[in-house]
Amino acid sequence: MIEILHLKKSFGDVEVLKDIDLTISEGEVVSVIGSSGSGKSTMLRCINLLEEPTGGDIKFHGKSIMDGEFNENEYRSKVGMVFQQFNLFNNLSILDNCVVGQVKVLKRDRQEAEKIAKEYLEKVGMAAYINAKPSQISGGQKQRVAIARALSMNPEVLLFDEPTSALDPEMVGEVLNVMESLAEEGMTMVVVTHEMEFARDVSTRVCFMDKGVIAEEGKPEEIFENPKHDRTKEFLSRFR
Ligand code: ATP
Ligand code: MG
Repeated sequence: MIEILHLKKSFGDVEVLKDIDLTISEGEVVSVIGSSGSGKSTMLRCINLLEEPTGGDIKFHGKSIMDGEFNENEYRSKVGMVFQQFNLFNNLSILDNCVVGQVKVLKRDRQEAEKIAKEYLEKVGMAAYINAKPSQISGGQKQRVAIARALSMNPEVLLFDEPTSALDPEMVGEVLNVMESLAEEGMTMVVVTHEMEFARDVSTRVCFMDKGVIAEEGKPEEIFENPKHDRTKEFLSRFR
């Protein structure tokens, strides 16, 4: 579904992504792990064009997303993103947070958009809060709303950038549970995370990033039970 080919990204003189190759197929749950500053967020942001790559290519269903002809808006609606800091619209109700994108980008009529939003808010256990404002709910609840908002756009793939890192520990589980059930339903997901249990138990593949490259990738059991690179071993030893 998504092919990343020799992806490079520099900020000024600093090369943050050095030569990333990664293929994401339908139904895969790819966890991306690695130290702070290794380029995990930058890679995700390049995938949905929040950052413009400085080299290489990214293909979606075989078509380059960096081609001038490519429809970026349509692409962004198919590639959802969930951020560490939720990025909800604080002035809008929970329901409207999940409606505006559908109306503006997908041109759905409001009634249909509300129906779809309510279905997904129900799915993440937030149906009782449709009239609340983001300031009235907890961090874990905000992140579940952010997931419902992303799902309301019917994306083909969801990108998560450390979705639980800003949460109090007691709220991490409720968000991971939602993500796990999405994975079980076959949603294609790329998840940057420090939750090693999620990476080991839920993902179909794990990528370890180090200094702008994917230093090692494989099935979770390969990476966690039998890491090949010293940097992977050293990184994982911090979580034992
Ligand atoms: P973390 O685990 O802390 O979130 P990360 O692996 O997501 O780290 P990135 O945020 O991708 O790392 O950053 C990789 C490098 O790129 C860092 O050195 C960072 O300072 C640099 N960087 C990221 N965004 C920018 C930017 N907009 N301008 C300049 N440098 C940037
Ligand atoms: Mg990051």
